[in-house]
Amino acid sequence: MSDNMHGRRDFLKAAGVGTAGVMLGLGVLNRPRTVRADPIYKGSSIVKADPIDHGGPVIISGGKVIQPRREIKVMRETDVLVVGGGSAGVIAAISAARAGADVTLVERYGCFGGLWTGGLVLIVLSTHGRIDGKQFRCVQGIGNELLERHLKIPGGIINQAPNRINPTSDPEVTKYVMADMVRKAGVHVVLHSWVTNAIMDEQAIRGVIFESKSGPMAIKAKVVIDASGDGDVFGAAGADSVRHTHKIGLVHRLGGVDTVDRAKAKKAGVRIPSFGGATPIPGVTWVNMQGPTADCLDVEALSKIEMDDRAAIWRRIAEIRKIPGCEKVFVLDTASQLGIRTSRTLVGVHEININEAKAGKTFSDVVAVGGGYALTKSKPCAIPYRALLPKKIDNLLAAGRCIAADNLMLNYTRLIAPCLVTGHAAGAAAAIAVADKKSPRQVNVAKVQSLLKKQGAYLG
Ligand SMILES: Cc1cc2nc3c(=O)[nH]c(=O)nc-3n(C[C@H](O)[C@H](O)[C@H](O)COP(=O)(O)OP(=O)(O)OC[C@H]3O[C@@H](n4cnc5c(N)ncnc54)[C@H](O)[C@@H]3O)c2cc1C
Repeated sequence: MSDNMHGRRDFLKAAGVGTAGVMLGLGVLNRPRTVRADPIYKGSSIVKADPIDHGGPVIISGGKVIQPRREIKVMRETDVLVVGGGSAGVIAAISAARAGADVTLVERYGCFGGLWTGGLVLIVLSTHGRIDGKQFRCVQGIGNELLERHLKIPGGIINQAPNRINPTSDPEVTKYVMADMVRKAGVHVVLHSWVTNAIMDEQAIRGVIFESKSGPMAIKAKVVIDASGDGDVFGAAGADSVRHTHKIGLVHRLGGVDTVDRAKAKKAGVRIPSFGGATPIPGVTWVNMQGPTADCLDVEALSKIEMDDRAAIWRRIAEIRKIPGCEKVFVLDTASQLGIRTSRTLVGVHEININEAKAGKTFSDVVAVGGGYALTKSKPCAIPYRALLPKKIDNLLAAGRCIAADNLMLNYTRLIAPCLVTGHAAGAAAAIAVADKKSPRQVNVAKVQSLLKKQGAYLG
């Protein structure tokens, strides 16, 4: 464990957080101090009790629960609204902001990274594809810049090197690097806010409604990017979509793996189980979990799986610790976000499919190229703009794991590296649409490709 403690301490030191508190690029921190328990604070004060305006009480009428009609306060108007701050949403927001758009990024939790960080999925698959028998880095541009930025922080990432694949990051470093890049790009950030509905003008989306501790509010936008992973925005907007079931698991990390005494286990004639994949912190592994198959949009199913998986993790660690030599292995943490592999995907103008991927098909409207994977026979996978574009709703783009892909191919498009590049594509397309005063459906794709290349993206 002392190694782990060192890793964390080194990180804090490298990031400049001492006991006195310093700049993190996020503004001056509030002098973090190590205290054993909360001292008696005298700094609290009373603010006016402002009731949340719900436009009147929710009533029961004819046995049904009825919400009142109400006016909703508009928090802001923006060029590009990105819903969801996961791997796709963060890159989309940075790309659009760097291209000159006014960008707002709404995220339901308090940090960025989505499943990559909150879901503790630490290994970024499919950054590279095999071309002429050699590994080639397909994730370039802002996605690779993000990975490279991890290198500046000791213990930030492993396997991010020219001849390596499968970079694996520390989730806290990823959250910090993403926040720093988003802020430096000038994105307006709205955290702790859950988007619940779409503002519609016939077939065109004009913004979203979200709930937060401040009550319901609206954000109006010229273009909305749905990077919620679950297609919450296009679902609410009435776009055609496909709902999938998949295996759900609670990813977690184990600590003390470096204390395992293999000789002791061998002497006792016991096999040591797998402790999962390596992470940047010595002695700490991440443990993927398959879990049962369920509808990832069914809150009752999610609640049961979360409870069952937690119990299973603790049963397993109890078994592990009974193995001679493994007594000091412990549960470091469990993911704050349940491992949703897929839920709702877009019915796009084009659906990426397995046959095209295996054949290495190219597209004249290519806007992203992800690396290879078993599904693509290790070939890089070109993603056309039409896979981000809903069939009928205007002013809307999808990015990340909810783009249009068939039931097999979504197991590729949901990997972190493809999410980084489709996020980049959506952000660039939204910025061009705003600049040219066009809807994403009418956007000049050649201009989007040119902006993406200017921002360092690889398009094949
Ligand atoms: C168990 C498991 C193992 C995996 N293993 C791997 C692996 O080994 N390697 C790999 O590359 N990939 C792996 N993946 C896939 C990968 O982690 C995800 O598919 C990818 O991170 C998705 O990125 P995203 O940005 O599209 O979506 P997400 O990461 O889901 O991000 C969506 C963001 O939107 C926010 N959000 C959602 N709804 C709303 C709303 N209504 N309002 C506001 N905000 C909202 C969420 O909080 C989140 O931050 C795995 C996934 C799982 C579940």
